[in-house]
Amino acid sequence: MSNNGQSVKQIELPATITIRDLAKVIDASPIDIIKKLMANGVMANINQQIDFDTAAIVASEMGYEATLEADKTEKKEDFGEIPLWRRIIMQEDPAQLVRRPPVVTILGHVDHGKTTLLDAIRHTNVAEGEAGGITQHIGAYQVEHNGRLITFLDTPGHAAFTAMRARGAQGADLVVLVVAADDGVMPQTKEAAAHAKAAHVPILVAINKIDKPNADIGRVKQQLAEIGLVPDDWDGDTIVVPISAKQKKGLDDLLEAILLIADNMEIHANPKGKVIGTVIEAKIDRAKGVLATLLVQNGTLEVGDVVLAGVAYGRIKAMFDFTGKKVRKAPPSTPVSVMGLNDVPQAGEMFEVVESERDARNIVMERMQTSKQAETAAKKAVTLEQLFDRFKSGDVRELRLIVKADVQGSLEPIVNSLKELSKGEIAVNILHAETGNISENDVMLASASGAVIIGFNVQADVAARHMAESEGISIRLYDIIYRLTEDVEKALKGMLEPEEKEKILGHAEVRAIFRISKVGNVAGCYVRDGEIRRNARIRVVRNGEVIGEGAVSSLKHLTEDVREIKQGFECGIAVKGFDAFQVGDILECFVLEKAQPSKDVF
Ligand code: GDP
Repeated sequence: MSNNGQSVKQIELPATITIRDLAKVIDASPIDIIKKLMANGVMANINQQIDFDTAAIVASEMGYEATLEADKTEKKEDFGEIPLWRRIIMQEDPAQLVRRPPVVTILGHVDHGKTTLLDAIRHTNVAEGEAGGITQHIGAYQVEHNGRLITFLDTPGHAAFTAMRARGAQGADLVVLVVAADDGVMPQTKEAAAHAKAAHVPILVAINKIDKPNADIGRVKQQLAEIGLVPDDWDGDTIVVPISAKQKKGLDDLLEAILLIADNMEIHANPKGKVIGTVIEAKIDRAKGVLATLLVQNGTLEVGDVVLAGVAYGRIKAMFDFTGKKVRKAPPSTPVSVMGLNDVPQAGEMFEVVESERDARNIVMERMQTSKQAETAAKKAVTLEQLFDRFKSGDVRELRLIVKADVQGSLEPIVNSLKELSKGEIAVNILHAETGNISENDVMLASASGAVIIGFNVQADVAARHMAESEGISIRLYDIIYRLTEDVEKALKGMLEPEEKEKILGHAEVRAIFRISKVGNVAGCYVRDGEIRRNARIRVVRNGEVIGEGAVSSLKHLTEDVREIKQGFECGIAVKGFDAFQVGDILECFVLEKAQPSKDVF
């Protein structure tokens, strides 16, 4: 077969494949694959699974035509992809099961309107009286429609891909796939659809931005049909709702459709059963300690329960609903923010209620042991790939950033203001923006893409710091947004305050002290080596110890002001802020030189 003169090789790929394995199959560097994915807006690390569609796109760019090895993988997925919480509910006594509100996640290509839609739904549908009070984002919220509750996961739109498996499709009963009517189906739309399918989560499509003059609903439907989402009015089984998130049009229809789909599913749980759920997001609050947003998926979470999530655990001291109101109980499908964990759990992690803190501790100890082993194994693999990449260096035409922040609420304004800086000669390219501490993964992505990591109110993990050091990756931490944007702006202009380096110009020995009224003591000196300059600084050294420092305020040869005076000459030196000279003091003259500012990196 030939394509522009190049032969296209046929390969078969499974429904999901790790980047490492894909690299082997198509005989490419994993780093090149990571870069290709980044260019398509997908962030992934070497051990991450990507779905067939994504793998096929990458493969095709590298001269391969991929087909799905259908049979083998379908079966594996059916079991493997059912999230643990669903399996736990399946084990509950059917007689105890009751309906619970559907949990919905909104996914789609960047800029297609996910955030706008989440905000629009929140503001128009949260029960009256509450809406005004909602100032915080806990990562999830609930709305009421026709007297029924719907839970929305307010997941970061930008990071939807990586976060999705963990947070989105796994925790959700239903995915609303947002597609902009003017832009149509894009790579991330396909990716989201594929993930939702892999997780067996039904997809409802919201065609957004129908208010736009260039909106083309028909074209979008055509594209949807092409990726297997055939609209219901085209005899398919995908419900498609046209909306305008911006003008808040069609929102009722969308909520209606969500409930309709929910009614045809078995969305239930046992409120009296085993308490389990998913960590939606978590952070450290200065006043409240660890605050974790938990989505209860089975059982009823109560204040006083001992919660275990990964290696974080603790007795719940207080619990708040998404409006910030204190609650004592949280039935299934309720998102709550809880206080009392001893550590920040990872978003996407399962949590469970255990008998006692002692039980929790024991389980945590076991888990730590296993994760340590896994970590060392992963680390080795990563470093090797990194080494590979270091041989190739590309032209940097843009400032690439990986942005990590403590909460979604601060991530958004940061990303927005950074995007705005892009107008100059060099663009800001935010490769990845997510909440949470800076991890080794971030450093790896930075290394693969030549990016700088920016952290806001977060820390870099110890392992991440080590890796950054060895990889020469710059990590910048901030706690003031203004400083962050200012630094990035400076970096863009190649004007970032460079490091100051000290350069010693020469030494003079104090041989006499002259008292001059109004000026104070002036040191009569002999220049022993180098030179003394007027626009420089002096360090006063006595018996080997520095006893004072200041700028040269006057430099005279005999009675004449001079700019500099060389070795072997005598001079009078006055130092700003210091005049307690003694005969025998050594005056070391130095300047602070700015290192050459680098052009497009920090
Ligand atoms: P996200 O990246 O998917 O979360 O997209 P955003 O919600 O940030 O929206 C991206 C841009 O599209 C923003 O400038 C929104 O104001 C705009 N937008 C979102 N929904 C609509 C809509 O229904 N109509 C129009 N005209 N613009 C919209």
